[in-house]
Amino acid sequence: MSELLNKKRLPLSSFVDLRDATAPLREELIEACTRVIDSGWFLHGPETRAFEAELAASCGAKHAVAVSNGLDALRLTLRAWIRLGAMKPGDEVIVAANTYVASVLAITDAGLSPRLVEPDPASFNLDPARVEEAITSRTRAIMEVHLYGLPCDHSSISDIAQRHGLLIIEDNAQAIGATAHGRATGALGDAAAFSFYPTKNIGALGDAGAVTTSDSALASAVRALANYGSDRRYHNIYEGFNCRMDEMQAAMLRVKLRHMEEECLIRENTAHVYSSTICHKAVITPTVSPGMRHVWHQYVVRVKDRDSFRRYLQEQGVPTDVHYAVPPHMQPCYHDRFSSPLPLTEQLAAEVVSLPIAEIPTGTAREIALIINNF
Ligand SMILES: *Cc1c(COP(=O)(O)O)cnc(C)c1O
Repeated sequence: MSELLNKKRLPLSSFVDLRDATAPLREELIEACTRVIDSGWFLHGPETRAFEAELAASCGAKHAVAVSNGLDALRLTLRAWIRLGAMKPGDEVIVAANTYVASVLAITDAGLSPRLVEPDPASFNLDPARVEEAITSRTRAIMEVHLYGLPCDHSSISDIAQRHGLLIIEDNAQAIGATAHGRATGALGDAAAFSFYPTKNIGALGDAGAVTTSDSALASAVRALANYGSDRRYHNIYEGFNCRMDEMQAAMLRVKLRHMEEECLIRENTAHVYSSTICHKAVITPTVSPGMRHVWHQYVVRVKDRDSFRRYLQEQGVPTDVHYAVPPHMQPCYHDRFSSPLPLTEQLAAEVVSLPIAEIPTGTAREIALIINNF
């Protein structure tokens, strides 16, 4: 790993290079791939079962259900709660307005109503005070999106949820490996959705996702919904879907999951170099409150004059990205649904810039930070 990392110098060819992320694991991945080909089992097999057990153990949940992608993990969980009678279409789910659109798509797909709340700009995550204000008689759940890899303030939010009898679903697509006061994301709430989209911290070689929960009834319902609604062969208890993870992706993910701690440490190191070196009055660097382990899916700074900042960095060989330029409530698909403005969310959407964080060697991270200081 370190040999490869030392070669990565400016100019960077792209914001993320998946070849760099995959190359050190090439031999292990090929071996796992061969094992699947030779087994003749491509779905519902030993790799998927083993991956589920390993993922559940990694976060401390009782159950993991491997599914097709992160959006399906979210929407199947919400639909399972509806089937189990915990909520019904039209009920409200509270979610931070600055999340990736998939969090909101899952809520509307299930026929539920998203209550978008402005985030805490210091953490980019749910602001507990605003969560409490947004609760109505129709609210049934809170979605904790651990955005950019930083856990939400779960202790305050679970307090509120308990007082109001609400469920908590974690959107853990960006925060695998993160912890809040020693407890892993994925096992903080009543259920959690993971995404293994290739650019996520643990990425499949294609699409994949998972649901974790310690609620056996929920795990069974999600598993059935993802498999035509069938709880055993040719017996359909729900009008379900086909949202399974295949054996090949499960085998790839078992390799990736074994290297999760290394992946977290490389990202933490780069983030540490950025945070300790960047010093510019126009650039706001991210903060991490005590007790939180941030896993840096993205390293996001805020800059008022974002366009010239990004242009300047690109000229210096530093590609950047924006997560996300258009918040869900401003997407064309939702133009009828959300009417009230969300000024804080819109301001963040105009100011956020993601710096390269995946597989960046220490020396290169320091160079990028010094270039930023000369902006
Ligand atoms: C990536 C992502 C999703 C969706 O995951 P897919 O596997 O791409 O469907 C959902 N929520 C968040 C916050 C994400 O970053």
